[in-house]
Amino acid sequence: METPEQRIKIAVQKTGRLTDHSIDLLERCGLKLTQSKDQLFLYGENMPIDLLLVRDDDIPGLVSEDVCDLGIVGLNVVEETRQRLLANGGEPRFRQVFELDFGHCRLAIAAPDGTGYSDLSSLNNQRIATSYVHILNDFLDENGIDAEAVYFSGAVEIAPKLGKAEFICDLVSTGGTLAANGLVEVETLLESEAVVIQTEERLSEAKQALVDRMLQRLDGVLQVRESKYIMLHAPRAALAEIRDLLPGSEAPTVMPLDGADDKVAVHAVCRENVFWETLENLKSAGASSLLVLPVEKMLA
Ligand code: ATP
Ligand code: ZN
Repeated sequence: METPEQRIKIAVQKTGRLTDHSIDLLERCGLKLTQSKDQLFLYGENMPIDLLLVRDDDIPGLVSEDVCDLGIVGLNVVEETRQRLLANGGEPRFRQVFELDFGHCRLAIAAPDGTGYSDLSSLNNQRIATSYVHILNDFLDENGIDAEAVYFSGAVEIAPKLGKAEFICDLVSTGGTLAANGLVEVETLLESEAVVIQTEERLSEAKQALVDRMLQRLDGVLQVRESKYIMLHAPRAALAEIRDLLPGSEAPTVMPLDGADDKVAVHAVCRENVFWETLENLKSAGASSLLVLPVEKMLA
């Protein structure tokens, strides 16, 4: 039985936008989880990996302080924490090791519709409400803008209506919330998505090997999401054209067909979704017996 020190601890958001995706991805990597009674942990049954369920804002700190080995959190929170630690003379002791391709959003500056905005200089001498004071101040400094960041812990979008600020700087995904509050985006500061961060603390060889294995499996899970395995018969003469029509595929496997010298079987992994239009184009090019199968696992 391994000691707690030999188990990998991953900090994951307890309840929020990242929770389901984070747990789902880890389960797809083969991890079986059971919840602890106090609902603070999800214990790995079949691997020495446990999840610690916390507020997303606490995740970079927990990884930096080596309470957890890994964390899954938005790049926006990673960047804000990194800059806050640096501004306070601390040292961020974590590094980003993987991008997870979910939780996409951007940190943007927005203004009430009708605000006269031409370029960044329009922000001079204005107040900007935000929960991301450090990223914002860094952006303003870099661009030589003299504006005041006003800290709001939440509900940033109502700051202009309350007369607390002329602009806001907040996370946007679809823009629906901004529109509902009569706000329009004017600048983007950061494109964000969920990422995996790892402590700078050196892990034991066994732990690092397991971390590397999980990252490789995550890579496989992300790759197969859109991937399809496509099989078809093609006239030899049309092979080049058919190859060009296969979306996002590397060298396909070409095999002879028993009793048909002028035809071959083509098998290929397409790393993009295969749409009906593609199949119709393949058929027009001479392909027949087309089959498209989902890919469950992939190890490059
Ligand atoms: P917690 O209670 O853990 O502090 P929270 O309210 O800070 O939760 P959520 O709203 O669940 O956090 O958002 C978590 C993360 O989801 C954000 O930090 C961001 O990376 C990502 N995200 C994606 N789209 C959006 C969006 N439209 N608004 C806010 N966050 C988004
Ligand atoms: Zn939060």
